[in-house]
Amino acid sequence: MLKLIFTIGVVYAVWYSFKNWARISAAYKEVQDEKARAEGAEIKSKPRQPVVQDLVPCPKCGSYVAAGAVCSCEKA
Ligand SMILES: [Zn+2]
Repeated sequence: MLKLIFTIGVVYAVWYSFKNWARISAAYKEVQDEKARAEGAEIKSKPRQPVVQDLVPCPKCGSYVAAGAVCSCEKA
């Protein structure tokens, strides 16, 4: 009889932890989905910015640098 109660206890413990695990993993998945959505929204908003930057020749050394950026020769 004690063995039966023990077995039921083990089964209950396994079932209970599984139930909690399912709940925890579901919550975790929700957080991951939320994160993915936030990242996806960020990626979608980015194409508005130019992907390829305009290059302009440096007036001093002639090497092409991104428009608005300071050439390496200016920094030195
Ligand atoms: Zn330069």
